[in-house]
Amino acid sequence: MIDVLVLGGGFAGLWSAAAAARLLRGHTAGPAGHSVALLTPHPDLVLRPRLYEPEPARLRVPLDRALKPVGVRRIRATATAVDTAGRRVTATAPDGTRTEVAYRRLVLATGSAVVRPALPGAALLHDIDTLPAAVRLADHLRAPPEAPDGPGRWTAVVVGAGFTGLEIATELAGRLRALAAPHGAAEEVRVVLVERAEVVGPGLGAAARPVITRALDTLGVERRLGTTVTALDDRAVHLADGSTLAARTIVWTVGVRASPLTAQIPAPRDALGRLVVDRQLRVRGVEGVYAAGDTAAAPAEDGHTVTQSCQHAIPLGKVAGHNAAAGLLGLPAADFAPDPYRTCLDLGAAGAVATAGWDRRLREGPEGFAKGLKRAINETWISPPVDDPEELLRRADHRVGLRPSAPPPA
Ligand SMILES: Cc1cc2nc3c(=O)[nH]c(=O)nc-3n(C[C@H](O)[C@H](O)[C@H](O)COP(=O)(O)OP(=O)(O)OC[C@H]3O[C@@H](n4cnc5c(N)ncnc54)[C@H](O)[C@@H]3O)c2cc1C
Repeated sequence: MIDVLVLGGGFAGLWSAAAAARLLRGHTAGPAGHSVALLTPHPDLVLRPRLYEPEPARLRVPLDRALKPVGVRRIRATATAVDTAGRRVTATAPDGTRTEVAYRRLVLATGSAVVRPALPGAALLHDIDTLPAAVRLADHLRAPPEAPDGPGRWTAVVVGAGFTGLEIATELAGRLRALAAPHGAAEEVRVVLVERAEVVGPGLGAAARPVITRALDTLGVERRLGTTVTALDDRAVHLADGSTLAARTIVWTVGVRASPLTAQIPAPRDALGRLVVDRQLRVRGVEGVYAAGDTAAAPAEDGHTVTQSCQHAIPLGKVAGHNAAAGLLGLPAADFAPDPYRTCLDLGAAGAVATAGWDRRLREGPEGFAKGLKRAINETWISPPVDDPEELLRRADHRVGLRPSAPPPA
């Protein structure tokens, strides 16, 4: 029997396990103390927000180097069923072995996935939702010169001009030119954003839009607005407006849904498939079960609901892990109280744009401020410490904000 079982080795899962270990430290129960386990299929935390970058294979953090020193056991398996009445999880190990794990408290943190469309030719779509998919795209773009030339060889179509679509489109503009230059083809490079709405970044706020549009113009990223993709093959993509674009690379970024495991929990879910949780991240009506990260629809400040983002997944994880452990120890639970909502969107060689608040006011700063902020988030803030149990436990305190250098709580 595991005292706190965390499902999912992403941001929410890692910080849940660390927060549970932090609280349970010093509260022994039996000779071995309380047990915390993280059940996840892969040995690494994947830095998903960075998967638009050119070298995705290195964007991972070994879970054991972060969590083993604080006593968290890793179970390498994929959860396939959750029996909340019997408090058991069924899982499959990489070799196909089925295993059952009993728990006292469960944190569901199995994240989300982009929903691939059922279009003719959809198997040819690329995405940057997972590490293998991002590596496949990077390899495909680097395809050697013997790859068939012809129309569309240096054209990338990105479907969806939301957060992920804008980041990969602006990044691809530079990456494709660098790859095409040795073949004398830099001038042939085209990056085209296809967006169903009539504007780019429809959900990113009016204040950021002029900055985004300027960046797209600077980088030569074309837009096809008010339309979508209806079919594709290995040479071209067909749009709902009747036009066809010759393109060898089509990247799908639209529509993210919570892990299907959420459907195994007998509780209300929102339109994104997330479990509705209270301020203490307990799943309504299901004893001993918490949800965190992209699987949780938790209340944020001022009546908003959290977004599927790292800035929420990390603090959600800390509070869920803390509360799962507090429940075992009979200690008071903590309320989820995230830092004020902010966004920071990378715009490739054209910079970045940062907003504050749910009304997405532009954050002004000196030249390069937003780009520097994005670099700090990507390279420092979202990376957990490894081989440093004391620092991990310090940051696992739910009162410590996302910025790791923030002063410790009083
Ligand atoms: C390209 C891209 C750019 C992004 N940019 C930003 C950004 O700029 N800022 C931001 O805040 N957010 C960004 N995000 C969103 C952010 O990455 C997610 O919100 C965050 O990763 C959610 O963390 P999580 O722990 O809930 O889920 P994940 O990070 O998805 O981790 C889920 C974990 O669960 C595991 N898992 C899944 N199913 C099972 C199962 N059945 N059994 C066991 N384990 C399972 C997975 O292997 C994984 O380890 C971006 C995402 C993408 C894809």
